[in-house]
Amino acid sequence: MNGTIFEVKRFAVHDGEGLRTTLFLKGCPLRCPWCQNPEGIDPAPALWYNPTVCLGCGGCAAACPNRALTLGGRIHVDRKTCTRCGTCVDRCPAGALSLCGREVSPRAAADLLLRDRAFFGTDGGVTLSGGEVLLQWEFAAEVLALCREEGVHTAIETSMQGPRAALETLLPVTDQFLVDIKLLDAEEHRRLLGVDNRLILDNYRFLCENGANVLTRTPLIPGYTDSENNIRSIARFIRLVNPEARYELLNFNPLCRSKYSALEQDYPVTGGALSPQELERFYTILAQEGIAHIIKE
Ligand code: SF4
Ligand code: SF4
Repeated sequence: MNGTIFEVKRFAVHDGEGLRTTLFLKGCPLRCPWCQNPEGIDPAPALWYNPTVCLGCGGCAAACPNRALTLGGRIHVDRKTCTRCGTCVDRCPAGALSLCGREVSPRAAADLLLRDRAFFGTDGGVTLSGGEVLLQWEFAAEVLALCREEGVHTAIETSMQGPRAALETLLPVTDQFLVDIKLLDAEEHRRLLGVDNRLILDNYRFLCENGANVLTRTPLIPGYTDSENNIRSIARFIRLVNPEARYELLNFNPLCRSKYSALEQDYPVTGGALSPQELERFYTILAQEGIAHIIKE
């Protein structure tokens, strides 16, 4: 089964162990207000605009068969009218427009990843991320199986919002699961992310009970996930499910703001990265809750 991807990141050092190549799959069932990859939420390709290189020539608006573009200081895209035909991309002389997302076969995706295998060494490998990998789990499982056949370490980054069948299929071909648990309160989860977290927590139990190599992570998002109550509650839950859990807190990275600008969307997170002192306060909370393996950045 073919899949839709939107980025390949080479020489990644934060997407699992060692040096890795990460493939990003399109489509996500969650709506995290702080999403670092907003271009990956829509399962279909999306028109991407870089105003910093735009010449303001208006050629794209003139070429669009659906009149989805208007010029007013910068290009504005009517995303309800745009059919993602790509005509404007071909017309733009400055490379300011691109279609984010393309369909590839599992073999082509594996070849994209395995191109870097000489750099993986003994501890690196390939990682699938998104978007949400579980939305394209049949494609993902084929890609990972092909990498495994070549003796390459495999990992996925996932929110766990997906069907149990996906995990059952991915388990035999995935050496490590990097699992995000963002909020433990079900109502808060539903209010902010669009769904409650029952499926996520059930899937987490399933993975831990079935011998998966799991690294649990929580992104520290100012004003959303970085409360003592939330971090303490998550720590209690994961220690109960897996007393030997490895747990990592991911500091907020505000660099994604430019992506929201390119999509003409507001970014609601106003704070910056947490200070070393604030991180230490959370590490103390994890130790108080009995987390034995705290992974520090
Ligand atoms: S992708 Fe096609 S429909 Fe969308 S703005 Fe460009 S030319 Fe118009
Ligand atoms: S064709 Fe390209 S350079 Fe010209 S206005 Fe459109 S996006 Fe900008």
